[in-house]
Amino acid sequence: MKLQIEYAIIADLHCHTIASTHAYSTITELAQAASRRGLTAVGCTDHGTAMWDAPKSSYFGNLNDLPDIIEGVRVLKGVEANIMDFDGHLDMNDDILGRLELVVASMHGGIMPTGTVDECTAAWLAVAENPNVDIIGHSGSPEYAYDYETVIQAFAKNGKAVELNEHSYAVRKTSIPNCRRIAELCKKYNAPVSINSDSHYHEWVGLFPNCFKMLREIDFPPELVINSSVENMNKFLAKKNIRIV
Ligand SMILES: [Zn+2]
Ligand SMILES: [Zn+2]
Repeated sequence: MKLQIEYAIIADLHCHTIASTHAYSTITELAQAASRRGLTAVGCTDHGTAMWDAPKSSYFGNLNDLPDIIEGVRVLKGVEANIMDFDGHLDMNDDILGRLELVVASMHGGIMPTGTVDECTAAWLAVAENPNVDIIGHSGSPEYAYDYETVIQAFAKNGKAVELNEHSYAVRKTSIPNCRRIAELCKKYNAPVSINSDSHYHEWVGLFPNCFKMLREIDFPPELVINSSVENMNKFLAKKNIRIV
């Protein structure tokens, strides 16, 4: 019998709070849940200002007021910025993005127009070159399909972590085949990935059963997962002079 690959996650890097009013937990509750699940760090990444119910930019500008450690867990202060157009522009200015510890960039319906594969490819290639972006958020949506072969190589070259998003299995089910394809190409091109809950309620922090199942099915190498160890996380965040421990 084949040995099953085990994936360990020490940091959930994409979580929302009540600051995005379609989410239901506080930062303290996120940290408490992360602590209960044995995580070392949790990313607080509320929606960027272009989303209809997102916090204002002052919320992100003031995040450094929070302590680094809450409930014994390192809280990384970040944002899930919105990609706005096919030039890959984001909804937050570089000054704020440059001060945040974690920047996820995602395409969301109602904000990013739907486009052709060529248009979405151009958008992601621009995001791949944006030095402020750390993580490529849930990019499997069929309405934003892109040239996976070309763009995943650009993500790998630029050291962007491609997100495998547990929440997609609940709310973006049509993405699931694309997520698998994306993971296969990350394996092929040695692109780093990040396994995140995208939780909008603290009970979901640190739970990734569907991501793990898919990764096992494709024999995904655990060493490419940036949030699988403190060492990998520190290596990933070194360009920003951040260590989680
Ligand atoms: Zn949301
Ligand atoms: Zn999102």
